[in-house]
Amino acid sequence: MNASLTRRPAATTRPNVLVVDDNPEKTLALQSIITELDCEVVVVTSAEAGLRELLRQDFSLALLDVQMPGMDGFEMANLIRSRPAHDQLTIVFMSAIDQSDERLEKAYTLGAIDFISLPARRPIIKGKLSAILGLQKETRRLETVVDEKARRLDETEERFRLLLDNAEDVGIFFVDTAGRVMDWSRGAECCLGWTASEMNSRFYGLLFIPGDVAEHVPEKKLSEARARHSVTFEHWFLRKDGSRFWGRAYVVELRGKTSAGFAVMLRDISAARVAEQELQIKAEVLESMSESVCVVDEGFRIVYANPAAERAFGYPVAELVGMDKRALNDYSPEENVARIEMLLAHFVEHRSWTGEWHNRRKDGSRFVTHTHLSQLEFRGTKYFVCVQEDITERKDAQAALQRSAELQEVVGELEAFTYSVSHDLRAPLRTVKGFAETVIQDYGDALQGSGIQYLERIRNAADRLERLVEDILTFSRLPREKLTLLPVDVAHVVGSILEETPSFRPPQACIRISGPLPVVLGHGPSLRQVFFNLLGNAVKFVPKGRTPVVNVRAEITGGEATIWVEDNGIGVRPEDHTRIFRVFERVAHPDGYPGTGVGLAIVRRTVERLGGSVGVESTLGGGSKFWIKLQIGRPV
Ligand code: ADP
Repeated sequence: MNASLTRRPAATTRPNVLVVDDNPEKTLALQSIITELDCEVVVVTSAEAGLRELLRQDFSLALLDVQMPGMDGFEMANLIRSRPAHDQLTIVFMSAIDQSDERLEKAYTLGAIDFISLPARRPIIKGKLSAILGLQKETRRLETVVDEKARRLDETEERFRLLLDNAEDVGIFFVDTAGRVMDWSRGAECCLGWTASEMNSRFYGLLFIPGDVAEHVPEKKLSEARARHSVTFEHWFLRKDGSRFWGRAYVVELRGKTSAGFAVMLRDISAARVAEQELQIKAEVLESMSESVCVVDEGFRIVYANPAAERAFGYPVAELVGMDKRALNDYSPEENVARIEMLLAHFVEHRSWTGEWHNRRKDGSRFVTHTHLSQLEFRGTKYFVCVQEDITERKDAQAALQRSAELQEVVGELEAFTYSVSHDLRAPLRTVKGFAETVIQDYGDALQGSGIQYLERIRNAADRLERLVEDILTFSRLPREKLTLLPVDVAHVVGSILEETPSFRPPQACIRISGPLPVVLGHGPSLRQVFFNLLGNAVKFVPKGRTPVVNVRAEITGGEATIWVEDNGIGVRPEDHTRIFRVFERVAHPDGYPGTGVGLAIVRRTVERLGGSVGVESTLGGGSKFWIKLQIGRPV
């Protein structure tokens, strides 16, 4: 029934009662009773007037006298009931005539709800009318409540429909407890490509990718939703055309009085996921960068700093954020202002700036960075992005390299000078020596005893000077750059030296080789020089009267060989261990061993050119153990 078509009095207005009776006494009594019941009353004396009144206004109740001149009450009730607008009107008949069953039946057939036999006592009439009107009132109240509920339900349903049909980017559908689709929204059609009729009663699992279907993911998700009332999950889903998308699904269990099932809301979040991943990657990159990154606003306040900035400036990120970036500069106040001005001026033209920047850490220490400044606009606000790479070490290394290059040049010049001086000394030396010998041979007999001694001294001194010059020349000729390394058999090198040098063999000396000697990466002639010098010293620096006993052995560790030359000589004090490897450094000794102080310098420079190192373990009087370390080469 449509409420708007029924002329129903409002629940709050006073009931309106129509009294149709031709007896003025009765009507007067009824009028007073009805008024007492807090009702409006309209009294007419004929059925025709009553019908007219019914057309003019609404009534809650009509009290009809059965017997009236003209149209009687029954006829009037008949006409009332024939009109749809009045089919709900409550009719009560009143009659003084004896009521037969037939008349009563007729009255009730016409829709009367009561029949009042007259004369009746006033309280009885009042009680009956009060009951009828009370009932009506309650009915009207209930009807209003029901109407309101129906209206609300209509509204909710409409809103719900609108939601289902207008939410185009969310696929909303309902499935029964077995997962069969019951209702499929327009959004679901848009998102998933299936129409409502295609999906009707089909298992919603066809929206899942085959792997998930095989693992019963669709069923599992419904079980989870049943167990926890609802479940949210992200997964790959399939559209009708077979394309996949990454979606977020929300499944909620619906348990009504008459039906049960699930509502499913599915949204394609592929784009959001890509954006989220991109953001995550960007954040990771920023966080893991070794360069410090600070984002500052136009007032130079830091709004973002990465962990590298924390490491570089020594302030925790939380402290950096909010700081004035200019406070981290290592310039005087005037220079700071001037530099910032220069930066901004550059920015106006080029939108970026790159260069060196001097910075100060929290602990006051300084560092130089290669700095790149660029501009960024985010949500209408301008920022500067400052990326800084610490180049202090690189700059120090460059400076050291520069200094070392300059030194190399000086050393080179000195060595060239030494070489040319030594070289030029040789000719006059030979002349001195040659003439001294000639005088001894040709005029020796004519000279007095001391004369010949002086000449011999001249010749010996010239000899020593010649050896010194030779050594200096050998040392100066050693190139500084690294040699091309080849495998060299140390056993072969040492063996051939022993073979060619009688002073290294008994009875003058005893040189033993203990165990196998390795093949090293080296340079044959250079290694020959090294071992010749080491063996020569081992044989030379022994106390007078002692036969030199020398032991040559090797140790292998990893890819490295250590070759030892151990002697039973005079030994070297630990404080001299380093300096004896420098040119012209000798240790004064009462026995006055001959030498120039260049031999070990040649050993060291040569071994270093081969990529190795040298050293000595020794104490005064305890013999010496000289060692060289070289890389192992493949066996020859
Ligand atoms: P030279 O042998 O011409 O003196 P070296 O450069 O070969 O010059 O050696 C430098 C110094 O190292 C020597 O003068 C000596 O004092 C010390 N020395 C070198 N080898 C030995 C050794 N085997 N035993 C003791 N002292 C040594």
